[in-house]
Amino acid sequence: MSRKKIVAGNWKMNKNFQDAISLATELKNRTMPDNVSVVVCPPSVWVESVGRAIEGNAALHLGAQNCHHENAGAYTGEVSADMLKSAGASFVIIGHSERREYFKENSLQLIKKLDLLLAKGLTPIFCCGEPLRIREKGTHARFVEKQIKEVLFHLSSQDIQKVVIAYEPIWAIGTGLTASPEQAQEMHAAIRKVLQKKYSIEIANNISILYGGSCNASNAKILFSQPDVDGGLIGGASLKADDFHTIINSF
Ligand code: PEP
Repeated sequence: MSRKKIVAGNWKMNKNFQDAISLATELKNRTMPDNVSVVVCPPSVWVESVGRAIEGNAALHLGAQNCHHENAGAYTGEVSADMLKSAGASFVIIGHSERREYFKENSLQLIKKLDLLLAKGLTPIFCCGEPLRIREKGTHARFVEKQIKEVLFHLSSQDIQKVVIAYEPIWAIGTGLTASPEQAQEMHAAIRKVLQKKYSIEIANNISILYGGSCNASNAKILFSQPDVDGGLIGGASLKADDFHTIINSF
């Protein structure tokens, strides 16, 4: 089993230029564990400068929070995968629930984003996860399986292994309500099973599945100790260097 441990910080729409650079510099100056890949995803306007600020710390990788689903063209205000790559990013989050909800992103657009990123050699961090009403109905596993099948299942056995999956129950994002370690493990194992059925056990075992949703310095250790949890996608707690560093050291 060779999947990577990954902790990615999603800064969302936070931090002005000075604050972004000082957080990035604080992270760069920390000692990071050598078995964890750390991804920093600032707002796209700061991608290049944050990339420069983290240069020199080999554990740190640069990511972005989104990209447009077309390669280039008349899409005022948008940012392309190619631009992010040329600014130094190597990871891009796609399908975050905030983008799905507020910007009405759908699976067809996500397929295009995914394919563009893979064609350019960037690593997609594909987010999936159920809203509260689905969790309360008990159909969360089926809901997430559908999200995964719709967007990922056209990929070849090779390409699927280039994708990182983030399971983020929407009811846990930014709410302080974390999934219990058992709930996280159950869903991560279910996702791996879905991948195993379509591809193979070897391939499923190679794909990193991150947990996201109010993961913080106090609960990361127990979440990351679950056998199918390979790290985290961290929102609020990635905005403070101390908290984020504690999370990174929680394996
Ligand atoms: C996220 O935005 O992906 C996230 C998990 O946010 P938070 O950690 O703040 O819940």
